[in-house]
Amino acid sequence: MERLTLPPGGAAAVDEYLEYRRIVGEDDGGKLFTPEEYEEYKRKVLPMRLQNRLLVSWRSPTGVDCKLVGPETLCFCTHRYKQHKTDFEAIPQQRPISLPCRVTGCPCRAYLYVPLNGAQPVRCRCKHFADQHSAAPGFTCNACSKCSGFHSCFTCACGQPAYAHDTVVETKQERLAQGKPVGRDVPYAAMGGLTGFSSLAEGYMRLDDSGIGAPSIELLDSPIAATDHPFLRVFQASSSSSPETLTDVGTSSQVSSLSKPEEDDMAFFERRYQERHLCSFLTLLKI
Ligand SMILES: [Zn+2]
Ligand SMILES: [Zn+2]
Ligand SMILES: [Zn+2]
Ligand SMILES: [Zn+2]
Ligand SMILES: [Zn+2]
Repeated sequence: MERLTLPPGGAAAVDEYLEYRRIVGEDDGGKLFTPEEYEEYKRKVLPMRLQNRLLVSWRSPTGVDCKLVGPETLCFCTHRYKQHKTDFEAIPQQRPISLPCRVTGCPCRAYLYVPLNGAQPVRCRCKHFADQHSAAPGFTCNACSKCSGFHSCFTCACGQPAYAHDTVVETKQERLAQGKPVGRDVPYAAMGGLTGFSSLAEGYMRLDDSGIGAPSIELLDSPIAATDHPFLRVFQASSSSSPETLTDVGTSSQVSSLSKPEEDDMAFFERRYQERHLCSFLTLLKI
């Protein structure tokens, strides 16, 4: 049996890489940033991401968020949420806020969630699947001429038809005003509506206790160590680690991690969260 051996520090380097990927998303265009570029990217993007985060959910007419969209959640255009524009230097004034797809040639103008029927795409009333329709505004069917635009009668677990739901893009303040959870501020790209560990569960079974809670004094007073969240370390003296350390690691173990299914979003988030409450850095920044 083939055995994967990592050089000393190899596991940490893989971890570092996954962290890098969560933060940078697709913004490096597939070519790893140099350590300098990475630091520069974090300095420029993270404050903006924390201030201007947009939360995305798929909302039932009853007001329940039946789906909280995460980085890997597919759009009607078949691309993932993280492939859409999600970082804004200034939050757009107009509503609804449209998050266009960034994949070259994709006509998608605004992220649109479509539920799945198990692992299957749902059908339109024209009988064709969602992904047989054009992602351009109008959402007409590519497989027939009688379709006047995608319309799914699929019944969501909340009891309402899919077509009665809306993909909602809103700011933290807008969610807070409705008493909806916003979770903690995170430095990761395209977090969408993920606010807590149960965010990927369907709305009706989610017990969301992910609102902002005050971290403990002990936690806030503890010194920042090398094992801490990179966001904390950004504001420390320049970090000794860099994404380039990865070159010593066999890539075979990383490939599967890079194409993680949606369910792993929260597993990753939870692990990071348990290392340290992510909101604590905000307090640290003010010191
Ligand atoms: Zn697209
Ligand atoms: Zn799209
Ligand atoms: Zn159709
Ligand atoms: Zn059709
Ligand atoms: Zn629903």
